[in-house]
Amino acid sequence: NKKVVQKCYLSGPAKESDFEVVVSDTVQLALPTGSTAVIVKNLYISIDPWNFSMKKDDSTLPLSVITGYGVAKVVVSGHKDFEEGDLVLGITGWEEYSLISDPNSLIKINYPDLPLSYYTGILGMPGMTAYIGFYEICAPKKGEFVFVSAASGAVGQLVGQFAKLTGCYVVGSASSDEKVNILKEKFGFDDAFNYKKEQDLNAALKRCFPEGIDIYFENVGGAMLDAVLLNMRLSGRIAACGMISQYNLEKHEGVHNLLNIVTRKLRMEGFFVSDHFSKYRKFEEMVVPHIKSGEITYVEDIAEGLESAPTAFVGLFKGKNVGKQLVVIARE
Ligand code: NDP
Repeated sequence: NKKVVQKCYLSGPAKESDFEVVVSDTVQLALPTGSTAVIVKNLYISIDPWNFSMKKDDSTLPLSVITGYGVAKVVVSGHKDFEEGDLVLGITGWEEYSLISDPNSLIKINYPDLPLSYYTGILGMPGMTAYIGFYEICAPKKGEFVFVSAASGAVGQLVGQFAKLTGCYVVGSASSDEKVNILKEKFGFDDAFNYKKEQDLNAALKRCFPEGIDIYFENVGGAMLDAVLLNMRLSGRIAACGMISQYNLEKHEGVHNLLNIVTRKLRMEGFFVSDHFSKYRKFEEMVVPHIKSGEITYVEDIAEGLESAPTAFVGLFKGKNVGKQLVVIARE
């Protein structure tokens, strides 16, 4: 069983050398009698900003396999609800085969006719994140002004498209002109800007939103959040989904414009998608018809082979990924 392990704790931005690919001699494709676990063959793994452990007290280091969401095929089952050949989505590992001791956490794949890789993105955890964060946390209304940061990524590209489906005006930010083009041409954002080229983020937001922002889908934090707070409209909502610009900092940046939360009567709410997976089938029912009709599209950045996972992960923090970053381990 080949696997990727985390060799050391994160200090500063993650580097490829923090990971190691380890090959163990044999794979045990059998379960003890009476076990209710399943063994899966991993097909696709989702590369997400949270995969790496920053915890200094993680005693499982240095040889713990990295865990994360993935798409897999059941190869041995001791569980009544799963049989050999079932395709599933759930928390697996950066390895060829994983033992899932609690299969109740797995979700069976209902639409194998759609690209299986979609279950790491649009039909997986990032899709659920966009759905819960936008529809439940932001409570959007037709005609509202929506801003999305890290807008071309796994979550952001869907938030923008959900906003368009709702009849909102939506603007996204990203770190390259290529991504800005994709936002406008492929995902239908009304406008987009390359934040790396802007001298003044407040001015960029004022240019894009002369009337202000009703909804901010927060993926990056730091200076962007500060600038957004200056541009929120009365009773605006901020879904605090993530703050990737802060994850690798020893000391988080200060945000200066928090008083606007009071004076503009804003609501800022954080959430964990993992608390909402009971709504997965409802989400799937909503999004699958839009995928099938072509109304919603999805861009993926696919790397080949387990060995490419560390580079793919490190790339997330440099904005190298164009769309959802994932790794193919096996196609069947
Ligand atoms: P993405 O696919 O968007 O990849 C990360 C992107 O973040 C990069 O491509 C880059 O895009 C941007 N980025 C990286 N470093 C910085 C930086 N220093 N400053 C500004 N932007 C940066 O990732 P996801 O869509 O998977 O995740 C988006 C956010 O959602 C993350 O913050 C993540 O942690 C969070 N998240 C939260 C969940 C929850 O349950 N609350 C669940 C899943 C994700 P760019 O070109 O725009 O710079």
